[in-house]
Order: sequence, then structure tokens, then C-alpha cells
Amino acid sequence: CGVFGCIGLEDAANFVALGLHALQHRGQEAGGIITHHPETGFHSAHRFGLVRDNFTKTGVIESLPGSIGIGHVRYSTAGSKGATQIRDVQPFFGEFAMGGAALAHNGNITNADAIRRELIERGSIFQSSSDSECLIHLMARSFQKTIPERMKDALRRAEGAFSIVAMTRTKLIGVRDPLGVRPLVLGRLHQGWVLASETCALDIIGAEFVREIAPGEMVVISEKGVESVQPFAAQKSRFCIFEHVYFSRPDSFFGGRSVYETRRQIGVELAREAPVDADMVCPIPDSGTPAAIGFSQESGIPFALGITRNQYMGRTFIEPSQAIRSMGVRLKLNVNRALIRGKRIILVDDSVVRGTTSQKIKEMILEAGAAEVHFRIASPPTAWPCFYGVDTPEREKLLAANMTEDEMRDHIGVDSLRFVTLDGLYRAAGEAGGRDNSCPQYCDACFSGEYPVAPHDMIERGFTP
Ligand code: SF4
Ligand code: MG
Repeated sequence: CGVFGCIGLEDAANFVALGLHALQHRGQEAGGIITHHPETGFHSAHRFGLVRDNFTKTGVIESLPGSIGIGHVRYSTAGSKGATQIRDVQPFFGEFAMGGAALAHNGNITNADAIRRELIERGSIFQSSSDSECLIHLMARSFQKTIPERMKDALRRAEGAFSIVAMTRTKLIGVRDPLGVRPLVLGRLHQGWVLASETCALDIIGAEFVREIAPGEMVVISEKGVESVQPFAAQKSRFCIFEHVYFSRPDSFFGGRSVYETRRQIGVELAREAPVDADMVCPIPDSGTPAAIGFSQESGIPFALGITRNQYMGRTFIEPSQAIRSMGVRLKLNVNRALIRGKRIILVDDSVVRGTTSQKIKEMILEAGAAEVHFRIASPPTAWPCFYGVDTPEREKLLAANMTEDEMRDHIGVDSLRFVTLDGLYRAAGEAGGRDNSCPQYCDACFSGEYPVAPHDMIERGFTP
């Protein structure tokens, strides 16, 4: 998901809509905006579909007055899988002491089931199936005297990954979980302040990047400025390495590092680790493109756009059902036949999850007359599900959970298949010495199976890490 918030900007809803539009790649199912106006109170709009289709219409933005606002773009992970109800669309608002608060969450609270059960026993009435709603209830029940204090109270109960943007009538609040699994950045525009999942959402409104919110940090922003508080004990950061590989936009920056450059560098690592003689390097667009450029530069094998993407289709994996997903590949990607015939092709993609994409593409590229097909993947085999806010399927459905690399190669039916190593990935992400196995610099649980936070609810449901 993607989150955005701003304060001190007239007609904040315009900025929120633009910010969400820049974060659309983080969630395409639905979006919502909440604002506050001193005379008319809180205002909200929640819609299914794209920001562009919903929040540019006359009437919608006008119905969201005020100079403070937050927003969210959603793709479902925890909670109601598949059929999202409009009441699951964030931000959530709850009226309680001191005027209440609204909140938008990116990530996944790994003990939300347990918290929810307990709250329901004590009388809370839940509106949605979302893990994020329990934070509103915990805040409502806290005895603290200010909303930020109540939020601290609530968050100390929560485990897992959360980057949250929240608002009261007069304050904008941003917070990251102690490991900083999901991103959150702070920006400045005129007299106002901005919080966003990624720097690309600052760029779109011309805001200046100030800094990242630190892992475990909470910022409370008001007319008086930015106050930083530390609700949690200090821990070593475990930022999601998959943000670098796939999830974020290539024009965003994390830790001073360009996402594009990391992806290009993964391609360089791949070319060194798994070279192969071929005529052409083709990306599987768009997510494989920077790594394919890196592979081509390092190997000297020409880069070519052998596959064309229909720009009007979304990200394949974000469609929740398998039926739509497997059709989606053909709806979205097509082979440039004139280029492929008789050639030995290296195809570069960011990841293999279920193997649907690679299999369909192999079929298309062989139909087009390729002489050889070699897959190079810009992440290690995805063998474990993510419980921190990225929608990987159950372990049984992950190709790499059931097969060795050679078995996957035969299953997909290509001449060779190689994945970047974990160390290669870490080097590409700026860790010259590779992965520190005693204390990894990133979360990489979907590749390593080492979960930095025990996935409490999932273990209760029978999952064994
Ligand atoms: Fe990111 Fe993978 Fe960790 Fe999930 S499990 S937070 S996708 S690195
Ligand atoms: Mg892709």
C-alpha cells in the first residue's frame, strides 16, 4: 500500500490526490482521502479503482476541504483477501476523546488477530476486516491525555510492519515500526509538511525531501513544526529489501540510494554470477528493465525491447485472483516477433513467485521463434511468504518452495534459469561486504525464511517459519 499526508497546505486534498497518484504502483484496488476543516470537521472519500479515475472528478476534491489531509492507496494483503469491501478502504476514522483521529497504514500487523479478539471481548465494534482498524480501537481505549500519546500506547501493542500516517484536527503524525520494514519519508513544501511512502510522491508536488522517518520514530507535526519522539526501544533497522527489487518506483530514493541504481546493479551482479552466451538481453517490462540494462552493460550483450507492455494494464500480481492473473500476462505483455526470430534471448525479470509470468512469456517467445531462452532473475528464489505487507501467496503456491533451481528451469521449460544470490543482492543494494548473516542489514524473509518479527497470527494458524 501507499500512504501520504500533508499539513499547512491550503486545499490539502489536491496534494494528497497527487501524492497518491504518484504512489499508485503500491496499490491499485482502492484509495481514500480524509481531510479536516476547522469549521466543518472531518471529511472523507473512499473509492474503488485508480486515483486518477476517482479523485480528479469535480465534486470529489471540493468535498474534502481543509489544509490537513491524509490518504491511502490499497492493495489487499491482510484482512479481506480478494473481495475488498469499501469499509476496508483506508484511511480509517474513529471519533473518540479529543476529537478522534484518522489513520492510514502500510504494512501488516502480525498480531492483529490476537488484538482484535481481545478488543471484541472487551466490547469494541469493528467496522472492517482490516488489521489496521485495531489501532483506532486501541487509541480510543487508551487513558493517555493526548492523541499522540494514545497512539504510542496503541503501537506498543502492535507487532510487525507499519508505516503510518495519521491526523488529528490539528496534527499530522507519522510513525515507522522499530525495524523500519516499510518506508516513510518527510518533505517540505512552502509553509507545509508532507509525509509519503516514497520520494517520488514528494517530486510530483514539488516538495523538497527533508529526511526519512527513522525506524521506530514518531513525528508529530503541527503549526509549531516537527517534533520527533521515540516510542520504542532502539533496534537495528531491517528495511524490506524487496522495496529495492520491485515494490518501489525506480525514481525513488531510500537511504540516499537510488532504487533504479540498485536495480541496475543487480543486473551487473547477475551478469557476473551467471553469465551466458546470447544475442540479446530483453527485460520483462517494467519491473525487469533496470536489471536488464545492468546485465547488458556488464556483459556487453545488446539490450533490446523484445517484449512490449500495454501501458494501460496494471501490475500483474496486484490482481487478486489466479484466473485474472494468468490471463493478465497476455493482456499486458506481447512479444516483438521481428526482433526475436532465430535469436538466443536472455530474459530478465525481477522475481519468480508462482511462475505464471515466466511460463507464459516463455511460450510467447518460443512461438515467436527464439532459438534459446535464458531467464535471469533479479532476486533470489521467493521461497517464503511475506507477512509484512507484500502479497505473496501461501508457501505451497511458491514455485521455489517446492522445487530446486534446476527443477524450476525444467518446469518453466527454458534453456537456463538463474537467480541473483542473496549476497549479490545485498552488494547491489550498497552493502559492499554482502549480507551480514549474523545480523542482516535488511528484511529478506521471503528469500531466506528468516523472519525478523515472528508472524504471530500466522503461527497460530499453523504456519511454521
Ligand atoms: Fe520485504 Fe520480503 Fe521482508 Fe516482505 S518478507 S518485508 S517482501 S523482504
Ligand atoms: Mg513484472
